[in-house]
Amino acid sequence: MKPELSVVIPVYNEESGLAKLFARLYPALDALGIAYEVIYVNDGSRDKSAAMLADQYRARPDVTRVVLFNGNYGQHMAILAGFEATRGDIVVTLDADLQNPPEEIGNLVAKMREGYDYVGSIRRQRQDSAWRTWASKAMNHLREKITRIKMTDQGNMLRAYGRNVIDLVNQCSEVNTFVPALAYTFARKPTEIIVEHEERSAGESKYSLYSLIRLNFDLVTGFSLVPLQFFSLLGIGLSFASAALFILMVIRRFILGAEVQGVFTLFAITFFLIGVILFGIGLLGEYIGRIYLQVRARPRYVVQAILEQSSGEDKQSS
Ligand code: UDP
Ligand code: MG
Repeated sequence: MKPELSVVIPVYNEESGLAKLFARLYPALDALGIAYEVIYVNDGSRDKSAAMLADQYRARPDVTRVVLFNGNYGQHMAILAGFEATRGDIVVTLDADLQNPPEEIGNLVAKMREGYDYVGSIRRQRQDSAWRTWASKAMNHLREKITRIKMTDQGNMLRAYGRNVIDLVNQCSEVNTFVPALAYTFARKPTEIIVEHEERSAGESKYSLYSLIRLNFDLVTGFSLVPLQFFSLLGIGLSFASAALFILMVIRRFILGAEVQGVFTLFAITFFLIGVILFGIGLLGEYIGRIYLQVRARPRYVVQAILEQSSGEDKQSS
């Protein structure tokens, strides 16, 4: 039977928190009284997570499916693989660390039933370290300015997507992407609700500062050309300014004769411009690197196995 709700959960080295997740997730979903399925995507965990997911599959095979990657491809690739496996009309994504309370899923579903096809969420009070909360706010602000994506709280994964949105996301083959933003671009009628946010139940964040920076580059370069255009405009502005400076220098040369003062000012200006150029080249490199990854067209992730009960239809198709 086709479930109405699919819940997608990426899992990477979460052995210490999975038991707590199962203990809260299933009662919360059972309480909704609708046909559902939970799809876990094991993103190449090196701990006992995969075995624990397999055990959970054996405990609740009717509503549990597990996609096993052969390596670590990142949270967003894991979610995309989960999307491809979904069958429900409403798809909800959730983190495995219980930072997104499973009890909120009912609220997302209720909002979807009001006719929206994308329900984002805003964390009432974010339970992350102060520097992350601040950096994330700053990036949110920048993204708001340079893309057409309207998300109050881009970092939160607790979101619901309609089948129409999921089908379109499944047609994309982006190598580096940010799922909530990608899905937003396909939504006809998006909205947001406020949800709770909790501290990580166990283990620690899988994101280092470096991977967070990379994720944010994905978000900015994957959804906007404004940074490139900004650089073209800056180049035009600087060319005009240096032309004006040149004319000024020529006039001074004829009125005052040869001058040698101001060498340090000249150096300061030069170093500033070199900085701007290097930044511009780096930015170009970001786009080119992404083009390179995309044209190589290697598989985005490799699914090693899928644990699922085959229904009658599935048997025919496989
Ligand atoms: N995750 C993943 N692959 C990764 C990193 C993270 O599947 O390479 C999963 C992780 O298991 C969790 C979710 O993505 O379910 C969010 O990760 P985390 O809680 O570490 O991120 P944070 O809450 O610190 O942003
Ligand atoms: Mg987390």
